[in-house]
Amino acid sequence: MDIEKTKRYYDRLSDEDICDCVYCRNYVKEIRSTYQKLAAVLDDWGVDIQKPFETIPIGPAEGIMYYAGAQYVIMGPSDDFKDTLIDDVHISVTNSHPMTDIDEDHFVIEISPICLKWNETKKDT
Ligand SMILES: [Zn+2]
Repeated sequence: MDIEKTKRYYDRLSDEDICDCVYCRNYVKEIRSTYQKLAAVLDDWGVDIQKPFETIPIGPAEGIMYYAGAQYVIMGPSDDFKDTLIDDVHISVTNSHPMTDIDEDHFVIEISPICLKWNETKKDT
């Protein structure tokens, strides 16, 4: 992976580039504080955990929102990337993802599964 290029990619991503659905917004709001160790590892790779390429929501139940996983773009080749487990979350390279529309060498990782707080009563649009 190319950490500097990955950092630049995430620096360029603005909030408008992130999916605006209620599940993604909940993800962005809760992920960093809930999975601090995971966020720190992704930071080391240049990945901003609050800028997912894709989330895979399952659904909310009793104040918890379940995600089968979330996907992140990493720049550079994937051949030095090792699958890993952090706080019961698997991190692995995935080939099953939407088109990224990125011309440069890159790959997509998936972190799974993810459970976050869900506050149904707080429906800010
Ligand atoms: Zn979404």
